[in-house]
Amino acid sequence: MNLTIFGAPGSGKGTYASRLQTKLGLSVVAMGDIFREIMKENTPLSRKVKRFVEKGLLVPDDVVVEVLKEHLAKIPKEKGLILDGFPRTVDQAKMLEAITHIDAIILLTVPDWIIIERLSTRRICKNCGEVYNVRYLKPKVENICDKCGGNLYQRPDDTAQVIKDRINVYERQTQPLLQFYRKKKMPIVEFKCEKLEMPPEVAVEEILKGLKRLSLI
Ligand code: ADP
Ligand code: ZN
Repeated sequence: MNLTIFGAPGSGKGTYASRLQTKLGLSVVAMGDIFREIMKENTPLSRKVKRFVEKGLLVPDDVVVEVLKEHLAKIPKEKGLILDGFPRTVDQAKMLEAITHIDAIILLTVPDWIIIERLSTRRICKNCGEVYNVRYLKPKVENICDKCGGNLYQRPDDTAQVIKDRINVYERQTQPLLQFYRKKKMPIVEFKCEKLEMPPEVAVEEILKGLKRLSLI
């Protein structure tokens, strides 16, 4: 089974993908994490990626697809995938059709005010990418990842101005993709979040129910 998880920045894509990975035994491919790894290097590719990510803009489609293909070649095919943060444009969705089949989309709908509040208090594990929040999703030990013991940090693009830019980019470039998939009759499992303090387990249970209704699990 191949899924893609779709939603605004801060809608919970990474948080739920990581939990669904454990429950369903799928491999998560998180585009943002892949780019953050690349940005640790000092290569022409890393410098190019940095220019876009730092401003909250999308990395150009041709670069994204190349990087994705390279990554997919390294992971086992039998297990199935959760794509987190791909596709983000209609062109990327078209390119994806040539790469693999997608069985369903998980759509996360979250109001803007929750997104802004969450992103500005978000922390990420430097080592494994697990997502925390200093107010709403605390690690057991302050600043330390529950999963791997790595240190937590604030992403440089989780600042007020860049958050605004990323939400704009989502609305302009990524949301139109939903129309594209609706026209294609792609199965969609929607989870609507209306509360700031939404335990990830509750969201994940709802998503699993949706996948069952589609007979995917
Ligand atoms: P978010 O919390 O905004 O969903 P991600 O960690 O998924 O963050 O992505 C971080 C950044 O990486 C994006 O703002 C963008 O610059 C870049 N990026 C991630 N996925 C894509 C993609 N599919 N196409 C273009 N750029 C991407
Ligand atoms: Zn970790």
